[in-house]
Amino acid sequence: MVMGASSLPLDVGRARRYFTRTQVLGLWERDGGCASCGQTTFLEAHHNQWWDRDHGPTDLTNGVLLCSRCHHRVHADHWEIHTDPVSHAVAFIPPAHIDPDRTPRPGVHRHHPREHHREHPRHNQTTESPDAA
Ligand SMILES: [Zn+2]
Repeated sequence: MVMGASSLPLDVGRARRYFTRTQVLGLWERDGGCASCGQTTFLEAHHNQWWDRDHGPTDLTNGVLLCSRCHHRVHADHWEIHTDPVSHAVAFIPPAHIDPDRTPRPGVHRHHPREHHREHPRHNQTTESPDAA
């Protein structure tokens, strides 16, 4: 396996649809949980450029960790997600029917999940079942 400059495992492109376990661990190290709400359970790797619709690659720069509830919302409402290749900051771009100006919203960005402090009340974990979304 070829390793990138940051020691993250490099990308598998269109070779396989699902992020490898190693890639998910890399996303976990980078995002520290759901990049949208900060939740640390029910996490899934999302293709920023969708696999089906956009033919996006299964690469770390095209991946983001989302909880299943946010993952569902991103697909249902067609949010765009950009990950800065240098800072790894994740930005969520709302669809026009939610925000006509489509102003990017910063995600929850953490390099050190174990040192995370919950600064935003709206990011508090819920006990709601992700299936109820
Ligand atoms: Zn979430």
